[in-house]
Amino acid sequence: MSPESLARTVARDRRPDPAGPADARRYVNLWTEAEALGGERVPAFVLILRTRGCYWADLKGCSMCGYAKDTLGRSATPAELAEQLERALGRYRGEPYVKLYTSGSFLDDREVDPASREAIVRAFAGRARRLLFETLPEFATTTTVGPLRDAFPGELEVALGLESTDPTILGRFVHKGAAPSDYLDAADRLRGLGARPKAYLLLKPPYLTEGEAIDDVVRSVEVAAPHFDAISINPVHIQNGTVVEWLFRHRRYRPPWLWSLVTALERGAAVRGASRLVSFPTAGGLARGPHNCGRCDAEVLRAIEDASLDQAFGPLSALACACREEWTSTVRLEPLGVEA
Ligand code: SF4
Ligand SMILES: [Zn+2]
Repeated sequence: MSPESLARTVARDRRPDPAGPADARRYVNLWTEAEALGGERVPAFVLILRTRGCYWADLKGCSMCGYAKDTLGRSATPAELAEQLERALGRYRGEPYVKLYTSGSFLDDREVDPASREAIVRAFAGRARRLLFETLPEFATTTTVGPLRDAFPGELEVALGLESTDPTILGRFVHKGAAPSDYLDAADRLRGLGARPKAYLLLKPPYLTEGEAIDDVVRSVEVAAPHFDAISINPVHIQNGTVVEWLFRHRRYRPPWLWSLVTALERGAAVRGASRLVSFPTAGGLARGPHNCGRCDAEVLRAIEDASLDQAFGPLSALACACREEWTSTVRLEPLGVEA
């Protein structure tokens, strides 16, 4: 099956039926996690709002993204968004870093209307030092960002899912709708508007070997670095109802090794310029997430988190496990079609 027809097949019926009012009044999830502001480790308050979700997921969807399952199937009303916010604020303890996600674009009016956006951001004004949200590049404009800049006196961090700076990998393998240059231009616009652009890069999109995936993400760090204040390397994990899951089930995809992530961070650190380089893998150590042999995963994940929080990548070179040999053979032999 071609990547194109596979994408259409897998995307069919991905979006849930329109939700009732009870679901729409509840956010998807909320938690706190470790983060860093400057050189200081701080707790971050993470909130996932329930919205209509990403419009691109309706049209085609990205090959690794299963976030449509957390959406409403229709736009949330301002009253529903206000109720989600109020419930979340009841659990906010003044964490200095706040991350707002919507399973799509916070700046898309169909997901969060402009007045609700402003109210949500204003709720954290004077309380959080930095507030992050995600968007597709086409929504990062003066019209959408300007009012939020005025409503929030701290740092606005805007994350863009750039994934790869290679146009073929981004378009054909990840299935993004915009070109890499659209993401770089949006980052420059955001800087001009006084926001801090952050890039997500994908480690091991489908159809790449382990070695190609490392090279792709390191090259992407180098190209993206002048445009972004921070770069997060996100190793693929298998989400339900995605092209990547289909390939995984048919034994045509293995999530990246943690050794690949370690190598990507080490090589990426050398080309990141002034931007911050981090990775906080989802599902690390699990079969459906980035993993090694099972014995060393916890230690390697801890070292990756420390390196990300402290921006100190030297200690990664001290990591060792017998499985590193197998990984080295995989990287060497996979292009030849030979199993390690
Ligand atoms: S990865 Fe981002 S752009 Fe792609 S379908 Fe998911 S939410 Fe939309
Ligand atoms: Zn191991």
